[in-house]
Amino acid sequence: MSARKVRVRFAPSPTGPLHMGGVRTALYNYLYAKQQGGDFILRIEDTDQTRFVPGAEEYIINSLKWCGIVPDEGQGFGGNYGPYRQSERKAMYREYAMRLIENGNAYYAFDSAEDLDRVRQMAKDAGSPNWQYNHITRNSMKNSLTLSSAEVQKRIDAGEPYVIRIKLNRNEEVKFEDIVRGWVSVNTNNMDDKVLFKSDGMPTYHLANIVDDHLMEISHVIRGEEWLPSAPLHVLLYRYLGWEMPEFAHLPLLLKPDGNGKLSKRDGDRLGFPVFPLEWHNAESGDVFSGYRENGYFAPAFVNMLAFLGWNPGTEQEIFSLSELTEAFSLNKVNKAGARYDHDKTRWFNQQYLRLHSDKELGELLKAHAAEQGQEIEVNQAQKIAVLMKERAYFIKDLWEESLFFFGSITEYDEKTLRKKWNAEARSHVSNLKNIFSELDNFNSESTENAFKAYLNDNELGFGKVGPGFRLALTGKGMGPSLFEICEILGKETSINRLEKALEELPNG
Ligand code: GLU
Repeated sequence: MSARKVRVRFAPSPTGPLHMGGVRTALYNYLYAKQQGGDFILRIEDTDQTRFVPGAEEYIINSLKWCGIVPDEGQGFGGNYGPYRQSERKAMYREYAMRLIENGNAYYAFDSAEDLDRVRQMAKDAGSPNWQYNHITRNSMKNSLTLSSAEVQKRIDAGEPYVIRIKLNRNEEVKFEDIVRGWVSVNTNNMDDKVLFKSDGMPTYHLANIVDDHLMEISHVIRGEEWLPSAPLHVLLYRYLGWEMPEFAHLPLLLKPDGNGKLSKRDGDRLGFPVFPLEWHNAESGDVFSGYRENGYFAPAFVNMLAFLGWNPGTEQEIFSLSELTEAFSLNKVNKAGARYDHDKTRWFNQQYLRLHSDKELGELLKAHAAEQGQEIEVNQAQKIAVLMKERAYFIKDLWEESLFFFGSITEYDEKTLRKKWNAEARSHVSNLKNIFSELDNFNSESTENAFKAYLNDNELGFGKVGPGFRLALTGKGMGPSLFEICEILGKETSINRLEKALEELPNG
């Protein structure tokens, strides 16, 4: 095979939101193209107009952009091989269907939907539920193999609807080598004479797909395993049209967390996690399906996680930026076996990416998130809070939710701590510490910590005797980060006020 420039395509059908498995297919295409100095193309396969969903194409483009896997050319991105939407290429396909007919590799078929239903039913009644239009059954159907050419012409001239089917040879072994799966071999006796061209004047997926891959000079077809059964047909079409075949790589399925079956679009939020990159609003039903973006995932964490569903670098390293992935990726290391989705692992990736942010960035992200929730925070304060809270956070929203006690006044005290730790002794410690803290000129984490420790020392007390009651009074909580960092962020006045308020409002215990 001659060395071709690497050109790969992601070819989704706009039948709804892009599932994360689709994003992974796009990602592997992107990684391979970038690594090989090739082109990554987005083609919209919308030949099945009955399944067209408004907004889906835009959703696909926005999802790719969010992930940073941006096509070099394609629908919405320009390029020299357009149009990139198959419905706009409609006029190009008939010629190839006709060429196949002329060469004896395809034929006209006039069977109506009712005709087909009838023979299927008859076969079923006779105990064969899997009737197929194939090298045997085609001999008793209405097609250009059984009708005279004059009759065929007459029907076409009269405007009778027809389809064009591929004519498969009997008992022919179709073989090709898949980069992921190795040699694949299928006998034509187990295939059917698929429709290539429909009565509505549109090509089917099979014809449009190979015509476009040829015209767009696609070198590698990297797609989901669900397309593997179609590949032998595609191999034959390349052969019949005399075209150089691209290389194939069929990617393993994404499985549900329990390993039982494919993770599908229908799983929606049913399993407790999103299956879509971005939130999707179903215009017809009004249903909303959640997205990773809206759930607070960082796009690079989502992409990193997806890259590992079906591939791994064979080393211990797990955190990879997109450019590191591009360098390390290899189609040869893609697994054959289905890849199980693991939601805890996805959260873990997000946590790692949260920690990769600088304190300054986290402060800014927290500030922005708080602003969305209607709370203005000064950026330095946001940074201090973020630093204090980041160890326990998976998401920016965790930083915010866990730090709510910094804002406004405390309206609720942790019930368990109140019951177990708040007693006369705790009150007196809080009261004493309030007085000591009131005297501090320089009120910060260091000075409060020193004063607190001195108090413990002077009274021969352990932290456990004083800490929980003090935390309850200061934050309303039973647990949390360093009390003295909290004091510094709250400031002297608020800290003292809170201790006073607790002494006034909490039961005597
Ligand atoms: N249109 C197909 C899909 O929706 C593309 C399959 C292929 O890549 O050949 O996934």
